[in-house]
Amino acid sequence: MYKLIDGKGLASKIRLELKAECDKIRNKGITPKLAVILVGDDSASKVYVKNKSKACEEIGIEFEEIILDDSTTMEKLLSIIDELNKRTDINGILLQSPIPKHLNIQEAFERIDYRKDVDGFNPINMGKLMTGQNTFISCTPYGIIKMLEAYNIMLEGANAVIIGRSNIVGKPLLQCLLNKNATVTICHSKTKNLEEITKTADILISAVGKINMVTENMVKEGAVVIDVGINRNDQGKLVGDVDFEKVKEKASFITPVPGGVGPMTIAMLMNNVIKACKIQNNL
Ligand code: NAD
Repeated sequence: MYKLIDGKGLASKIRLELKAECDKIRNKGITPKLAVILVGDDSASKVYVKNKSKACEEIGIEFEEIILDDSTTMEKLLSIIDELNKRTDINGILLQSPIPKHLNIQEAFERIDYRKDVDGFNPINMGKLMTGQNTFISCTPYGIIKMLEAYNIMLEGANAVIIGRSNIVGKPLLQCLLNKNATVTICHSKTKNLEEITKTADILISAVGKINMVTENMVKEGAVVIDVGINRNDQGKLVGDVDFEKVKEKASFITPVPGGVGPMTIAMLMNNVIKACKIQNNL
């Protein structure tokens, strides 16, 4: 019998703890503040930014949204990041992805001051994660680790298989799992015999963005299955990468979509903003 991993419930609990911490900071006359840059007209991004703003409001973090149109130049984007880097009232800066194709997102991530890089995408923070130093860990991988730990899922020595090697999910997650002493395999679009590899997983994580990417034949009996994917099906309903109804019968633990990884990602962003504020104010 599988157990559902309640990311939504766990995220609410974390948000309550963060609110208490934020209240303490505010009582000292300091208000944590997050700035989010949104470039272009991506409708999913607008929803994500709105959810982040709601979470900030609930916790007591100030939120500033900088909206730029599709034709924004790289020069303009970098100058806005420079300004936010300089402002002492801003503790965290987040550039919502994706951004229009003519802009270089990596260059933009590199420009965000690593001390305000609450998404953990600046190469300095990525490098710190890689070398096991204290840093801002990317919110989705961080949320996944917190979820696994909350459900007492053994990471040390576990065979973890990640499908997807993006800079924002797969690669930092690989490092997070490695830092917890898991044996990690990362698969991607060029991987051969995917099913053979996924069947070895004690913990299987899919971060692809494709409906029914993970089917029951790819999952070992008793595996922990984490679904990062966010997709819309033909009925317009939000679904993950995993064929949930069938895979759940083989899994020991499984995350739902929605209500799994998504809420944890936002909770970890809030965590990182509070952390940035505390570091910047020597609290
Ligand atoms: P991406 O497009 O950057 O990367 C997708 C990865 O999937 C690539 O590494 C690619 O090699 C791999 N892939 C594609 N087809 C494959 C196949 N047939 N077999 C094996 N691997 C294959 O995507 P991303 O930004 O990492 O996001 C992945 C998914 O996770 C998306 O659905 C995205 O919306 C979702 N996401 C969710 C959260 C959250 O908080 N829940 C956060 C970030 C991303």
